[in-house]
Amino acid sequence: MLKEQLEEVERKIQAACDRAGRSRDEVTLIAVSKTKPVETLREAYDLGVRVFGENKVQELTEKYEALPDDIHWHMIGHLQTNKVKYIIDKAELIHSVDSLKLAGMIEKEAAKHDIMADILVEVNVAEEESKFGLKMKEVIPFIEEIARYPHINVRGLMTIAPFVENPEDNRPIFSDLHKLSVDIKDKNIDNVNVSILSMGMTNDYEVAIEEGATMVRIGTGIFGARNYAV
Ligand SMILES: *Cc1c(COP(=O)(O)O)cnc(C)c1O
Repeated sequence: MLKEQLEEVERKIQAACDRAGRSRDEVTLIAVSKTKPVETLREAYDLGVRVFGENKVQELTEKYEALPDDIHWHMIGHLQTNKVKYIIDKAELIHSVDSLKLAGMIEKEAAKHDIMADILVEVNVAEEESKFGLKMKEVIPFIEEIARYPHINVRGLMTIAPFVENPEDNRPIFSDLHKLSVDIKDKNIDNVNVSILSMGMTNDYEVAIEEGATMVRIGTGIFGARNYAV
């Protein structure tokens, strides 16, 4: 079942790239494996998946220890400042940076390990009350500030679009985030290279790719529904 679902997702990514006149290798598929057991991730690994997204620190570190070390782990969920230390040397990209406090802790922990931390700035494009992320207008001042942090690389922007029945409804969200990334590029801020746009989930990744996503985060579409009761 996993194999068929992966193939289906892969086909749809390719089709969206074709429609948008984009090359398939511009889009990274992140398999969002949260709540799924290690055996399921192993199965995906054996099918060739090497990029996994997790939203909880403890789950990421446990799976990191249990699985092969050629996996690229992405932290996609809200990150508490006091937990940065557990993932700083394990997550290749932190998608969810939305405060100076968090950025400050990432800087501090990255400095300790003498590494550069690659991060995305999370943007709450639709300004939903329930969601984390900066408002659009806060993003450029925020990036100008953290561009000065010596151990942080701002690599791009991330958004979690609203849950909608019709994915077309999220098209403006994705195009707004794309426009914002172009505005940031035009500012030529030192040490900032916003080439990554992490947007699109199971329900809307095809539209996101058409609007310029370079990373799509897909859970249900690959692994099936999540059971939070276990
Ligand atoms: C769970 C999650 C996803 C994947 O959601 P699906 O709808 O299952 O594809 C993507 N991004 C984030 C930040 C998530 O927490």
